[in-house]
Amino acid sequence: MKKLWINGEWTDGTQHTTVRSPSDRADVVGDYATAGAEQAETAIAAAHQASLSWRHSGVQQRADALDLIGSEIQARKTELGTLLAREEGKTLPEAIGEVGRAAAIFKFFAQEALRIRGDKLASVRPGIEVDVSREPVGVVGIIAPWNFPIAIPAWKVAPALAFGNTVLLKPAELVPASSWALAEIISRAGLPPGVFNLVAGPGRVVGEAMVNDRRVDAISFTGSVGTGSRVLAACAARRAKVQLEMGGKNPLVVLADSDLEVAVNAAVQGSFYSTGQRCTASSRLIVEEAIYARFVAAVTEKLRQLKVGHALHAGIDIGPVVDQSQLDQDLRYIQIAKDEGAKLAFGGERLQRDIDGYFLNPALFVDCDPAMQHTREEIFGPVASVIPAKNYEHALQLANDTEFGLTAGICTTSLKYATHFRRHARAGMVMVNVPTAGVDYHVPFGGTKGSSYGAREQGSAAVEFFTTMKTSYIAS
Ligand code: NAD
Repeated sequence: MKKLWINGEWTDGTQHTTVRSPSDRADVVGDYATAGAEQAETAIAAAHQASLSWRHSGVQQRADALDLIGSEIQARKTELGTLLAREEGKTLPEAIGEVGRAAAIFKFFAQEALRIRGDKLASVRPGIEVDVSREPVGVVGIIAPWNFPIAIPAWKVAPALAFGNTVLLKPAELVPASSWALAEIISRAGLPPGVFNLVAGPGRVVGEAMVNDRRVDAISFTGSVGTGSRVLAACAARRAKVQLEMGGKNPLVVLADSDLEVAVNAAVQGSFYSTGQRCTASSRLIVEEAIYARFVAAVTEKLRQLKVGHALHAGIDIGPVVDQSQLDQDLRYIQIAKDEGAKLAFGGERLQRDIDGYFLNPALFVDCDPAMQHTREEIFGPVASVIPAKNYEHALQLANDTEFGLTAGICTTSLKYATHFRRHARAGMVMVNVPTAGVDYHVPFGGTKGSSYGAREQGSAAVEFFTTMKTSYIAS
C-alpha cells in the first residue's frame, strides 16, 4: 500500500483505492491510500505551520531542491512514463513526453525562483521611497484532473515551491500513482516537513476541505467546468485567491488555401491523440467548403491507418479511454450526434480486443450543424465534428461561437488570414498551422471566456498567482 505524504512522514489514509490499467483491467497498477477528513486536517495544519518559516527560506535552497527533483524525474523518465501509461492509458511515447515535460518544468522554476523581481519608485512626497516586492501567498491547495497525471501537478507544485509557498497536492481519484511517484521524489529533496504534502482522496472530502479552510490561502484548480464553478463559489465566499483551468471546445479552422497535409495532421493529432482527452483537443473542425470534401476524405483515410490498443504496445497511436464512466459519456455523445442528424464518417464503436480495456474507435462526424448539442458541449474523448464554413469570415464567426475560449487553431497559407485570426479568435492560445493541442512548458498557458478564471499558469506568468504584491513606503 502506497501511503500519503503528510508533514514529512508517510501516513496511512482512511481508505485505499486499487488502480487498474484502462488498457487491461487485469493489470493492477497498485494500491494507494486515500485521505479522509482527518488526514486533510493534519495536512492543512502542517502546511500552515511550515509556511511560517518556509516563506522566509532562501531562494537558493528552493532552486536547489527543484533542480534536484527535475533531475530525478528526468533520470527516471522511462520508468515513470511506463507507470503513467499504465495508469492513465496514454501511449508510452506520449507518457514519456509528459514526464519529460514535468522534469523540464521543475528545472525551469528552479531558475525562476532566482528571478523574483521587485520595483522601486520615487514617492510624490520628498524623503520617501516606494518599494514594490513579491511575497509568497502562503499555503497553496492544488486540485488536479486525471488527464495529465504528472505534468499538471508539476506545473502547479514547482512554481508554488519556487516562490516560497507550502503545498497540498490532491490528485484526481483515478490517477494517484503518478502523483505518488512525484511525492516520493519530492520527499527526498530535503524540504522541511509540511512544505509539500500529498493528500490524495475524494474531491468531495479532501478537495472541499482544502477549498473551505481559511488556512489555505490559494487554490489552483484544473478540471471540469462544473467542479470549477463550485470551487470558485467556495473561494469567493471566503475571498481566497483562486485560479481555474477548465474545459474547452476548441475550433480548428481549415481554409481552402491550406496545405492539406498540414491541416490533416493538425486535425488528427489535435482531435484524437491522447484519446482526445485533452482540454486543448480540437473537437470542432471548421472547414471551408472549397476544401471540405478533400479534407474529410484525407482525415478519414488517416483515421483508417491509426492503431487503437494497449498503451504500452509498440506502434499504437491511440490508447484506451480512461475508465468506464468516460467511455459511457463518449458513447452517449456519439448517440446524441447520430440522433441529431450528424453523419458518422468514421468509427464511433467500442473495439473488442483480446485484453479487457476501454477501447473506442475514434469518431468523425461530418456535415454538422453548429447548433447541435455534440458540437457545443465538451465530450473529452476521441470524437470530432466537422462543420462546413462558406468562407473565412463565416469560419471565424463559427470558431468564436462557443462559451469556451482555451485554444483556437487555423490552417492557412495566407498571412492575411493568419494575422486576422490571431487578433480576432477569442481564445487564450492561438495556433497557426500547428495542432491546437500541444503546448510548450515555459510559456504562459490559459484561456478566456468559460475556460479559465484568474491568473495564467506556467512560464513567466506563474509568478502572478503564486506570489502576492507588497508596496512599502519607507521614509529615509
Ligand atoms: P473533475 O472536475 O471531475 O475533477 C477535477 C478535480 O477536482 C479532481 O481532483 C477531483 O477530485 C476534484 N473535485 C471534485 N469535486 C470537488 C469538490 N467538490 N471540491 C473540490 N475538488 C473537487 O475533472 P476531471 O474529470 O478530473 O478532468 C477532466 C476535465 O478537466 C475536463 O473538463 C478538462 O477539459 C479539464 N482540463 C482542463 C485543463 C486546462 O488546463 N484547461 C487541463 C486538463 C483538463
